[in-house]
Amino acid sequence: MITNEMKLRFKALSSNESFARVCVSAFIASANPTLDELGDIKTAVSEAVTNCVVHAYPKQELGDIELYASIDNNKIYISVTDYGCGISDIEKAKQPFFTSKPSCGRSGMGFTVMEGFMDELIVTSEVNNGTKVEMTKVLGEMTEELCGV
Ligand code: ATP
Ligand code: MG
Repeated sequence: MITNEMKLRFKALSSNESFARVCVSAFIASANPTLDELGDIKTAVSEAVTNCVVHAYPKQELGDIELYASIDNNKIYISVTDYGCGISDIEKAKQPFFTSKPSCGRSGMGFTVMEGFMDELIVTSEVNNGTKVEMTKVLGEMTEELCGV
């Protein structure tokens, strides 16, 4: 059962990368994440939103980004959706160091970072229709492992 959820829609502007990060951060505060967990989630959200800003829409088009988050006990679910160009080969796009914009100083590590910092990453996309990035993280996992519980 979902205990809390939120949804935001904003423009694909780079200034909204930090806005999204701050919103998610404030939203999940009630789940008492550790500073490390909070940092991981904020970074993953930043990467997902940045991808929508940088890749999804042509320069002359200011499209929308939808950010959804839910907290279910200690499980955080976040989705970042755009309605832009889509990704034709998701497996290739997820490869470390793959970028379609090397000339713009991109390193091709966004999906790798999301995958590493979150417990689960699911990317669904349709060319010319958009992309949805879904991420989950269960809070408190590290502490339990360290405690041997
Ligand atoms: P970096 O994130 O390191 O700055 P990057 O954005 O190119 O570089 P990834 O975030 O791993 O690297 O994304 C890999 C590729 O997937 C991108 O280069 C782009 O071609 C494609 N991609 C990612 N997100 C989207 C999106 N929302 N819409 C369209 N294409 C995308
Ligand atoms: Mg990226």
